[in-house]
Amino acid sequence: MRLVVDLNKCQGYAQCAFLAPDIFAMHGEESLIYDPLAHEEQLERLERAVAACPVQAITADGLDPRDGFLAGSDFVAGTGRESSDGR
Ligand code: SF4
Repeated sequence: MRLVVDLNKCQGYAQCAFLAPDIFAMHGEESLIYDPLAHEEQLERLERAVAACPVQAITADGLDPRDGFLAGSDFVAGTGRESSDGR
């Protein structure tokens, strides 16, 4: 799955790097680096990152940037509200 971050919109809030560290990483305090090709097993984390970005800077094939879910699909996973470490 291809993804793009609009770096003109990105404000470096790092929500994406927190939620999908295997795709996104901060380089310094404000620069974002990312893998433009996400793999199937990264989909749930990518959805959470797309949904959590406060400026909707992340777009990915088939994902709606407003809520992160696959457009036109009944795929339902990840709300961005849960944490894997129990917090
Ligand atoms: S969550 Fe959005 S604004 Fe924050 S670093 Fe990621 S892409 Fe940029």
